[in-house]
Amino acid sequence: MISEIKGLHHVTSMASNAQTNNAFFTRTLGLRRVKKTVNFDAPDVYHLYYGNELGEPGTVMTYFPFPMAARGRAGVGEVGVTGFAVPTGALDYWKGRFDRLQVKDVTENTRFGQKELRFSGPDGDGLALIETPDDNREPFAGPGVPEEAAVRGFHSASMRLRDEGASAELLKFMGYQEVERQDNISRFVMENGNGANVIDIETLPDTAVAQQGAGSVHHIAFAVEDRAAQLEVRKALLDTGYQVTPVIDRNYFWAIYFRTPGGVLFEVATNDPGFDHDEDSRHLGEALKLPHQHEPLRKQLEQSLQPIKD
Ligand code: ZN
Repeated sequence: MISEIKGLHHVTSMASNAQTNNAFFTRTLGLRRVKKTVNFDAPDVYHLYYGNELGEPGTVMTYFPFPMAARGRAGVGEVGVTGFAVPTGALDYWKGRFDRLQVKDVTENTRFGQKELRFSGPDGDGLALIETPDDNREPFAGPGVPEEAAVRGFHSASMRLRDEGASAELLKFMGYQEVERQDNISRFVMENGNGANVIDIETLPDTAVAQQGAGSVHHIAFAVEDRAAQLEVRKALLDTGYQVTPVIDRNYFWAIYFRTPGGVLFEVATNDPGFDHDEDSRHLGEALKLPHQHEPLRKQLEQSLQPIKD
């Protein structure tokens, strides 16, 4: 079993409009944009990162806004809901705020004894705020959000799968423990993780496979401390028969990727070097940052990328 994984690192999704996406995550949810860069594999598209003050692992929601992208169709083989942790009692505040800001598809639920507010992002993204006691992570309270209600980081990612078997085994191999079942949902928890400790599997045997598009989660990344830990994880996964990419430099972390049995793309990302290694922490996310290989494209990209008004 792997012991190096510490919970979620980031969740990466797709959007159809950079401006709308930015407004939703910074103004409605009150996260901080901690990086404005480009998709390293398709540099004509932004890669926007939203998180807490410094974008600590376990707090970072990231987006590729492909202009005019068609909306995804929900189904199995993907992450259906990304959950953010808020303090106990905070949902009353968020209900009022979402009502005022006309957030779509807001519903209240209790799952595994925790109160949840589900809602949709601008592209129909499946999102939730989940009341989580004793979460001592530093909140980031964006415009108008009181600190006592602010998002602490991720609570969970919830995968929709036809069959949970092999993915449940994988999560256990990665250090998660199955703690509870409710209806067709199994909950897996990482003990002593970074706070973003929960993965749910919702089993839907008769549902069609998802079609990825705007509003779909592209992949979820799990956190390891450093490159040595990442190599340990990579070796353990290879030894178990997974096809894992080589280590890729993502400038703010190093990444490896592998496809899970249920179809969801997993990444394992390092906590270092972090988002403040190439700009002043007081000005994170303000300037367009490019990795050195794309620096020659700067002039062209500054003209072609849609400006984002904060
Ligand atoms: Zn990633």
